[in-house]
Amino acid sequence: MKTYDIAILGASISGAALAACLGTAGLSVALVDKARFPRRKACGEGLSNVALESLERMGFEMSAAVESGLPYYTYRIDLGEHSYEFARGRERRLKGVGVQRTILDRILFDRASGFPTVDTYCEASVTGIERCEQGCNVSLSTGDRLSANRLILADGANSPSATMLGIPVRRKAEPLWGISFILEGSFSRVTGEVVVILKDGYEINCTPVSQSRLNVTILTKRKPVKALQDSVVRERLLEEATEKSFFTGHPMEKPLQVGPVSASRRAYVWDTVMLVGDAAENLDPVAGMGMTHGMLMAEIAAECLIAIHKEGLAVEIALARYAELAGRMSRSYRGFTRLTASLLRNPARRFLLPALSSTILPGLIRSALDDAPMKWVETQTISRSVLNLAGV
Ligand SMILES: Cc1cc2nc3c(=O)[nH]c(=O)nc-3n(C[C@H](O)[C@H](O)[C@H](O)COP(=O)(O)OP(=O)(O)OC[C@H]3O[C@@H](n4cnc5c(N)ncnc54)[C@H](O)[C@@H]3O)c2cc1C
Repeated sequence: MKTYDIAILGASISGAALAACLGTAGLSVALVDKARFPRRKACGEGLSNVALESLERMGFEMSAAVESGLPYYTYRIDLGEHSYEFARGRERRLKGVGVQRTILDRILFDRASGFPTVDTYCEASVTGIERCEQGCNVSLSTGDRLSANRLILADGANSPSATMLGIPVRRKAEPLWGISFILEGSFSRVTGEVVVILKDGYEINCTPVSQSRLNVTILTKRKPVKALQDSVVRERLLEEATEKSFFTGHPMEKPLQVGPVSASRRAYVWDTVMLVGDAAENLDPVAGMGMTHGMLMAEIAAECLIAIHKEGLAVEIALARYAELAGRMSRSYRGFTRLTASLLRNPARRFLLPALSSTILPGLIRSALDDAPMKWVETQTISRSVLNLAGV
């Protein structure tokens, strides 16, 4: 059985980003995933500026991915006869890029697996985790077993390994179900917008991800997605999505089922196990900030792990620092996504959106999307009455 400094369970955004940072520092890493990359993953595919900067700091070469995608400058919320821009005028600066997940995940995974000290185990589900004095032993569905001094969970929102270890979920919002399409065709007009359409109990998110691709994700609280399996309903919603995005095209490949997904939170550190990305805290998908959050968490986790293994920092101090920094960083995203989601789902949104879209929302968007983490507005500074009004 091979022994590693660190075992990372989950090799998507946060697991691969973390593995690459640890590989750069020469730590030995086992990077495990039940999938083989590239693989399809339901996601709105909007990669924020903050995420791009984080990837560049971690040493990823992003120019090809950025060139393959389409930049966005604003979010448009469409309520039928009214539509509101979330960032306009001087706020209408580059917010991010629509990038296909297959391309992004591949870049992250390829770089991580290229380090001589990083071993990858793909198409290998974690079937057992045994804690021991030296760390842990992990059993995989391939029959492989590995041991590591330190265990990191990066296996996504429903984290099977957290369940295996009995790590509780501290908070869970009401679940959403949905369906995710990639449409192929062409744009009659490039808008630089992510469009969110609210219609008949559905939240339809449209992100242009290349000159010939539109990502459409339809989410609903209705249980489960029966209505979306009705081709007439689906066609009607897709038609609206394409019309509002100035797109003509058709779904390619099979749509992906989404959910149940709900914003949930676990501890960042449980005993000596670290949780990173959606495994620790996943955000409401409608606000589209999960990747940013996962990457920043990976960056913080890498710093703390390198401090333990290379600089001899005491484990308890490093883990406490990770929990504190990740918690502080997540607070503004948590506030932002809860505010956005509750606003969009609030029956009074027709009145709330116009008022907030010209007052508090542009600043919130800017602070979550444009600025470096430490400069973010703390949600506590947002007037409590505004949050109450929005039902947060
Ligand atoms: C509908 C929807 C739309 C979204 N839109 C956006 C958006 O536009 N922008 C944005 O920034 N974020 C968006 N997100 C959020 C984003 O997709 C996630 O935050 C991000 O993928 C989290 O990355 P992660 O690495 O933490 O986890 P994941 O990407 O979920 O990866 C977890 C990995 O763990 C592996 N795994 C799971 N179980 C096991 C096991 N037992 N053994 C081995 N491996 C295992 C999985 O195969 C997977 O590769 C969206 C999410 C949803 C659901």
